[in-house]
Amino acid sequence: MQGFISGITKLKNEDIIVQIITQSKFLNLYRFYGLRHSIISIGRKIDFDIEYNGQFMPRLRNIMQLGFVWESDYFRLYYWQQFLKLLNSHLQDTEDISNFYFNLLNNGAFVLSKQNPCRVLIEMYLKLLNFEGRLNVDSNCFICGEELSSKVVVVRGFLCAHNSCIPNNTQMIDKDIFFNFISIGKSIFLRDDEVEYLLKVLLLGI
Ligand SMILES: [Zn+2]
Repeated sequence: MQGFISGITKLKNEDIIVQIITQSKFLNLYRFYGLRHSIISIGRKIDFDIEYNGQFMPRLRNIMQLGFVWESDYFRLYYWQQFLKLLNSHLQDTEDISNFYFNLLNNGAFVLSKQNPCRVLIEMYLKLLNFEGRLNVDSNCFICGEELSSKVVVVRGFLCAHNSCIPNNTQMIDKDIFFNFISIGKSIFLRDDEVEYLLKVLLLGI
């Protein structure tokens, strides 16, 4: 079975519980002395077996790393791990999941070798919002309901608001540029500072 490690919970000794996103499941598996196992790290894609032994939690066995060339690039790895942590919280308390999530990670990990990680992540997030039916294309402010101005504030969930409706806000993005981004699903027309802005919003939570 293959999956992406999205979370690690340390227990007593060096035992851990590992959260893994597979094609159809969000798994919680037990691993003895897991902290000593260098392959077990958030963001890694692994091949593994599950041992069901009638105990309280199935065990993670026969782990093999399915590596990516960019994993030695700290910049890429850092942002990739942040996204996996967010996805881990998002899928918490679920067990059966759509293969959308595994495929999103698989494709994302593939393009990450060639593209800017910040751009890859915000494009992945758009796909996720779209899949979950949460992509907001409303041209009205989500707080006051009035039509948006030419510059908008983007908040968690990529919702848009007036600057005056968000207290203490300092950053905005051009409305047309943002809506073009969400309609085409590509960040090519965004400047780097706009990408950084949207990534910062994404990192607040999926
Ligand atoms: Zn408003």
